[in-house]
Amino acid sequence: MSPTHSSTKGDGIDENTAFSDCPDAAVQAIKLQLSRLRAAKSICILTGAGISAESGIPTFRDKQTGLWENYRAEELANIAAFERDPKTVWSWYQWRRQLVQDKLPNPAHYALAQWQAWAGTQGQNIDLVTQNVDDLHETAGSEVIHLHGHLWQNKCSQCELTFEEDVDYANNELLRCEACAGYVRPNIVWFGEGLPQKEWQAAELAAKNCAVFISIGTSSLVYPAAGLAQLAKQHGAYIIEINLNPTQSAVVDSVLAGKAGEIIPALVAQLIT
Ligand code: NAD
Ligand code: ZN
Repeated sequence: MSPTHSSTKGDGIDENTAFSDCPDAAVQAIKLQLSRLRAAKSICILTGAGISAESGIPTFRDKQTGLWENYRAEELANIAAFERDPKTVWSWYQWRRQLVQDKLPNPAHYALAQWQAWAGTQGQNIDLVTQNVDDLHETAGSEVIHLHGHLWQNKCSQCELTFEEDVDYANNELLRCEACAGYVRPNIVWFGEGLPQKEWQAAELAAKNCAVFISIGTSSLVYPAAGLAQLAKQHGAYIIEINLNPTQSAVVDSVLAGKAGEIIPALVAQLIT
């Protein structure tokens, strides 16, 4: 199934205003990181729901609204929940798809894409790994490894056949697989499920090989993804966290506190000028 929402590209960064949007304390903290980031041969970036929050996609820590206000996201994005009550879980994903389908990348996604492309021309490697199931990184122009699957794809819950055809997001009726009659589900890694092997191996390799690991907009609570920073640290990397409400993670060496959509464009504008 191909995404039905539009994908508009733009550069996302206004270099003249990049710093003016950024809190003073963060500007100072950014300046301290520039030489380290310029010198790093390889950088691994892990993003979470926080990077898409300014695009209007709620994180799992935000309270749900409307029909779903009495449910917790963690209880729906869950294999046990689907096995118990597939209709409710399917309906929630159809609702989330309606919510996400018109959302566009924000300046943080565009700045990372610009940095990744520029770094390639300088002999520097940036591996971008995401826990997000939206496609805003690739819409912004990045190459990205998806650890938790894709919101716009479906697969059979029994035989794992993937489905390419479009689904009407306004229809909450369960669909059946043509091959085995199993229920159709989103092609997403739920709580209680393993990660796709190829993507996980690529992410582990990136974490082991990087000189700097940057964790952006993630609560660092969901494993195994949260373990990538620890793995990077064990292999000698310096760990930077960018978060509106920084975590208390013991592996973090430096924190850039603030909105991803303000910090990252400011950082990238400094790095690539
Ligand atoms: P999370 O919901 O657990 O945590 C979000 C983090 O982002 C928090 O630490 C919060 O302080 C931070 N944050 C919020 N707004 C921010 C901003 N503007 N700038 C910087 N940081 C900000 O998200 P998670 O760690 O990614 O883990 C939860 C799971 O939820 C993941 O597995 C992911 O697949 C899934 N999820 C994905 C999406 C998406 O695809 N957009 C959305 C919600 C949840
Ligand atoms: Zn099937």
